[in-house]
Amino acid sequence: MQPIEPIARAVEAFASLPGIGPKTAQRLTFHLLRLPPEAVRDLADAIVHMKEAVHFCSVCGNVTDVEPCSICGSDQRDRSTICVVEDPLAVMTLERTRIYKGLYHVLHGALDPLHGVTVEDLKIEELVRRVQGDSVKEVILATNPNVEGDTTAGYLERRLAPLGVNVTRLARGLPVGGDLEYADEVTLARALEGRRATP
Ligand SMILES: [Zn+2]
Repeated sequence: MQPIEPIARAVEAFASLPGIGPKTAQRLTFHLLRLPPEAVRDLADAIVHMKEAVHFCSVCGNVTDVEPCSICGSDQRDRSTICVVEDPLAVMTLERTRIYKGLYHVLHGALDPLHGVTVEDLKIEELVRRVQGDSVKEVILATNPNVEGDTTAGYLERRLAPLGVNVTRLARGLPVGGDLEYADEVTLARALEGRRATP
């Protein structure tokens, strides 16, 4: 028997999310069917509200519900340092270490020419413009420890070198091949503290 249309539609919607296969999508759908209607409505409302309330900061590209974001707008942050990351999840991970006090720049991806992701697809020109402002002294490249992250960091090193800022990279020791978000806070804090100048 084919699943009835409303169920098939929900399963398909769940299965379109990262990390959710058809089995899990089915399990989630049947879990929701057993919940009281209010609980399902609360869940749906939370998702819709999140999508409507959250946007990307016009300065750093991080997720925010105010403009600029609370980090860019804070007078407690060191405005001479910008940490460059691939996605907003990495900002959250680095903030959890509590040792970084500078600003961020979110690229929204990594260079991946094989899959058509080029310089124009990332927030690279925005970064260059920020670095050209006279208050920036150090740019920390904290792209993910994988091939695309390394390619991106290499490109940024060459791009930023003529601008007269210190360009540094996180120390080795992060789990290779994964995303920054998988690193634990201690490892990440150590990688930040042990960052070194790029050649
Ligand atoms: Zn911001």
